[in-house]
Amino acid sequence: MKIVVLKFGGTSVGSVQKIKKVANIIGNYVKKKYKVIVVSSAMSGVTNELVNKSRSISRNFSESEYDVLVSSGEQVACSLIAGQLLNLGFKSRSWLAWQIPILTEGKYKNSRIQKINKNKILNYLKSGGIPVVTGFQGVNSENRLTTIGRGGSDASAIMFAKFFNADKCIIYTDVEGVFTTDPNKLKKAKKIKIISYEEMLEMASLGAKVMQPVSIQDARLNRIDIEVKSSFIKKTGTLITKRSNIFKNKIITGISSTQNDAKVTLVGVKDRPGVAASIFKPLSKNSINVDMVVQNISANGKETDLTFTIKNEDLNKTKKILFKNKEINFRNLIFNKGVSKISIIGVGMITTPGVTFRMFQALAKKNINIQVISTSEIKISVLIDKRNVKKALRVLHTEFKLDK
Ligand code: ADP
Ligand code: ASP
Ligand code: MG
Repeated sequence: MKIVVLKFGGTSVGSVQKIKKVANIIGNYVKKKYKVIVVSSAMSGVTNELVNKSRSISRNFSESEYDVLVSSGEQVACSLIAGQLLNLGFKSRSWLAWQIPILTEGKYKNSRIQKINKNKILNYLKSGGIPVVTGFQGVNSENRLTTIGRGGSDASAIMFAKFFNADKCIIYTDVEGVFTTDPNKLKKAKKIKIISYEEMLEMASLGAKVMQPVSIQDARLNRIDIEVKSSFIKKTGTLITKRSNIFKNKIITGISSTQNDAKVTLVGVKDRPGVAASIFKPLSKNSINVDMVVQNISANGKETDLTFTIKNEDLNKTKKILFKNKEINFRNLIFNKGVSKISIIGVGMITTPGVTFRMFQALAKKNINIQVISTSEIKISVLIDKRNVKKALRVLHTEFKLDK
C-alpha cells in the first residue's frame, strides 16, 4: 500500500473556499493511486480565540478542560474537509483522536504522541476511504482528551507517517516552503531546497514557526523525510532530511528571530555555590521556560549580576516567584520586555572560522547593540532590542550571502 500523509495548516483550511481547494489537492493524490491520510489543524484564528475564551474565564483555567476546549477547532475543520470530499464523490470521514485512538503521555497542554492504533484506519484505507484526522489532539491513559503543544498538528502528521510507514509526509502551509528567514518579515528571504533535521530543529526552536520543533525531533528520530510546500501555489517546496543527503552547504542556512521575549536581571546576587540553582529551581517547578542565561564574573568575589530571558507571558509569574524566594538575596531586579533573539544557523559554521566575528561586526556597523550571546555547535544567538529586528535580519541575510 502506497501511503501518503497530507497535513494542512490553519490558513490552508481558513475558509470554506480554501477547504474546497484542499479537497482537490487530496483528490489528486487519490488519482495517483495513493492511500491518503489527511491530518488537519483548526481553521486559522480558531485555536487562538478558544485560548482567549479560557483566559476570560480564568487565568488559572483547568489544564484538562483547556485541552478539551482548544482541541475542538480541529473537529470542525476535519468534518468540513470530509464533507467536501464526500461532495466530490470520494469515500471519506473525519476521525477524532479518541476514535482511533491516538495515545499520548505527559502533561495536559504539552503531551507527546506515544502510539497510534492502526487497525481502524488501515481497514478504512483498505476499503477505499480517505480518513481525515484531527491534528493536535490525543487521549491519555485515563481516556481524557489531551493536546500536544501549539502548532502540534505537524507532530501529529509525522507520527502518522511513522506508524503507517508512509511513503511521503507532506506539510501543506501558507508559504512555499522553509525560507532562509521568515518571508513575512524579510522580502529578500529565499526558499531553501533541502535542509537537515538538525538545522531545521534549531531554526524552529529559535522562532521559525513554519514547523513545530517537536515534530522535527520525531522526524529525525524516525528518519522521516518531510516535504513542506504551499497549499495555494503548485511549486516544489523544501525537503527536510538527514544531513548525509545534502551535498552542498552554505556557511549559514537560515536566520530565525523570536517575538515576545523578556529579559530579567538580578543585580547584586551573592556569589556562592548553588545560587543559580536556587534561582532557577522554583521557576522550573512552575513550568517557566528559561532560555538564555549569563552570569557575570564577580569583580569583588562577593556579588554578581545574573541575566536570563523568558517569554513575556511568564514575566508576572517570574517576578512573584523571585520576590517570594527566601533562598536568594539581590539588590535590584530589572525587567525588559522589549527584547528579541536573533539566531544564525548552519552546519557550515562547524568548519568555518570567523562566523561569530562576522555576525558581531555586521550588527555593530548598523549600530545594533548585543545584550546577551549564546552559542552551540551550529548556531549563534544574540539578544537585541526588538525594534532592531528587521534591520538585523536584513544585514545578516546579506552578510551571509543568503540574498542570492
Ligand atoms: P500552518 O498554519 O500551516 O501550520 P504556521 O503559521 O504555523 O502555518 O507557519 C507558517 C508561517 O511560518 C509562515 O506564514 C511564516 O510567516 C512563518 N515562518 C517563520 N519563519 C519561517 C521560515 N524560515 N520559513 C518559512 N516560514 C516561516
Ligand atoms: N490548531 C493548533 C494551534 O493553533 C494546532 C496547529 O495549528 O498545528 O496551535
Ligand atoms: Mg503551524
